[in-house]
Amino acid sequence: MRIVFANSAWVSAAERLILRGGGWQRVRLRVRYGLIFHPVAGPVLIDTGYTPEALTGEGRGRMLQLYGTLLKPELNAAEQALPVLKRFGLSPDDIRTIIVTHFHADHISGLSLFRDARFIASDAAWARVKARSPRQNLRHGVFAELFPLDFEARLEGLSAKRRVEAREDVPGGSDLFGDGSVIAVDLPGHADGQFGLLFTGLERPLLYAVDVQWLLTALTENRAPGFPATLIAEDAAAIEPTSAMLRRFLAVGGEVMLCHDPAPTSYDLAPEAA
Ligand SMILES: [Zn+2]
Repeated sequence: MRIVFANSAWVSAAERLILRGGGWQRVRLRVRYGLIFHPVAGPVLIDTGYTPEALTGEGRGRMLQLYGTLLKPELNAAEQALPVLKRFGLSPDDIRTIIVTHFHADHISGLSLFRDARFIASDAAWARVKARSPRQNLRHGVFAELFPLDFEARLEGLSAKRRVEAREDVPGGSDLFGDGSVIAVDLPGHADGQFGLLFTGLERPLLYAVDVQWLLTALTENRAPGFPATLIAEDAAAIEPTSAMLRRFLAVGGEVMLCHDPAPTSYDLAPEAA
């Protein structure tokens, strides 16, 4: 199964905000989203990255403004979802499935571009989004206006998926396609309902751990940032146990990839030849 990641935008943040003991210099972060080619489900998006839809949101709450101050996006036109799909000969209507790892703007902002897609996401987290007022959602980093109006009708919740047990230090989770190829692994801490994706059928198992940390170094060197990063976390106390689970996975030979880490990975799309 082919797996590629693209970079929808650049955001920059002072290193000390995203890495304990970091400096004042700014780090240019990526905002990845993925595209996998599943033998049965076909081309599947993993989130949508930042798209222009996310940058015009009005009435932003204080917490979201803080989030925006930390991560001021600069869109990467060449690697927005539509041009990237085109590189693979695909149109938006060819996308029948989008895995939505969590409901932050840089993950859902392009959902409305895909009219024929079902959304695999946490139905429990969606129920909480529905139960909250718009203002409460903003405090959780959720712009309700970024969801397509028929989001719920197209939602395929994680709760209906078969559970796969953890083996030693390889985490378990929900088997998204019923064939064990992609396992959704709960990653509590950063956002309500956040899950990552474990790909087991590779030479080296890969866990796409989304936003558990911004930098891989924060994970591998145990340098998770404190305040104010903890202020914008959904459940700050859960970040450390989740990070420790990822470290154990690394220790048994797994590979961990994050959404925002700036270093290129072997899954990142090569820049298009001019
Ligand atoms: Zn996030």
